[in-house]
Amino acid sequence: MKVLVIAEHDGKSLRAASLSCLTFAQQVAQATEGTVSWLVLGSQATGVAAEAAKFAPVLLVESSRLARPMADSCAAAIANVAKNHNVNLIAAASTSFSKDVLPRAAALLGGAMASDIVRHEVTAEGLLFDSPQYAGAVTATVQLLGSPQVVSVRSSAYPAATPAAAPFGIEAIAMEDATLASRCEFVELKTKQNSRPDVTEARIVVSGGRALRNSADFEGLVGKLADVMGGAAGSSRALVDAGIAPNELQVGQTGKIVAPELYVALGISGAVQHLAGMKNSRTIVAINSDPDAPIFDVADLGLVGDVYEVVPQLIERLQSR
Ligand SMILES: Cc1cc2nc3c(=O)[nH]c(=O)nc-3n(C[C@H](O)[C@H](O)[C@H](O)COP(=O)(O)OP(=O)(O)OC[C@H]3O[C@@H](n4cnc5c(N)ncnc54)[C@H](O)[C@@H]3O)c2cc1C
Repeated sequence: MKVLVIAEHDGKSLRAASLSCLTFAQQVAQATEGTVSWLVLGSQATGVAAEAAKFAPVLLVESSRLARPMADSCAAAIANVAKNHNVNLIAAASTSFSKDVLPRAAALLGGAMASDIVRHEVTAEGLLFDSPQYAGAVTATVQLLGSPQVVSVRSSAYPAATPAAAPFGIEAIAMEDATLASRCEFVELKTKQNSRPDVTEARIVVSGGRALRNSADFEGLVGKLADVMGGAAGSSRALVDAGIAPNELQVGQTGKIVAPELYVALGISGAVQHLAGMKNSRTIVAINSDPDAPIFDVADLGLVGDVYEVVPQLIERLQSR
């Protein structure tokens, strides 16, 4: 199969989630005796293309119309490349960007799409994909009957690809402005400066729940523990709804899906909607004052205690190391 992986980036570097998607693509290509290429879209994206080329060959489309990730322009570029290169499978990491872009590309190509893939299988009949439904309560196995096949891949399900011994080539593809016309106009990007890693990409995530009474406590306990461990801060929805933690930190069914090496849940009960976002973490540590809290059912290590007493001691111990 000819597999095209959409490289997600911020203009400077690749997102880690795209490297997990590349692993998925490499596995499919290997099992089907096919090939894998990145597709890098941007306006001045040669730096990103060079980084991507450490892992796989790159197709690069540069245009001022791709300076911002406007969904219709990106989808048009993907469809154009996929058509001209006879691509069989288009894959991108399961992110807000791909949710916006991939279905449009699939529609332009008349292809078939599956989202949030967590496992695949190459069979004599074709590719089968596992896709969690209903907040992970059930898993659907689907086969895509249209062509090309288009999938978004959960980065937590595949390890990050590793660089090859020598870089691959970069092929620049010229594309006319008319192909990339957008019916949306970019107005403004509002972004918050965050010194901590993104919750979806961190190796360690420390999350807080309703036990935290206000934003200062959240920052002083959850944020500080995340900092001393070099991790990201996360949150349950209860704290986001209460305005104590920012929206982008929410982990769960309606928040971010994470699968770090270590997930520390502070004062989180373990509602099914929260578990949907973190239960695939490699090691789960829970601190909760209620010994019957459901979070302990999924935790590898549990401590029954008050986060206001335990966490400052934990921070002190870690800092003194
Ligand atoms: C459609 C839908 C989507 C949802 N999506 C999400 C989602 O994406 N993410 C999400 O998180 N939730 C989501 N929810 C909400 C979810 O059902 C729960 O309400 C929420 O996860 C509860 O958050 P919590 O564990 O912080 O709070 P609670 O359930 O109130 O739990 C607080 C926990 O803190 C413990 N505690 C209290 N004080 C202390 C202390 N001092 N020290 C130690 N422990 C203490 C308590 O024992 C308790 O277990 C969703 C709900 C719906 C209906």
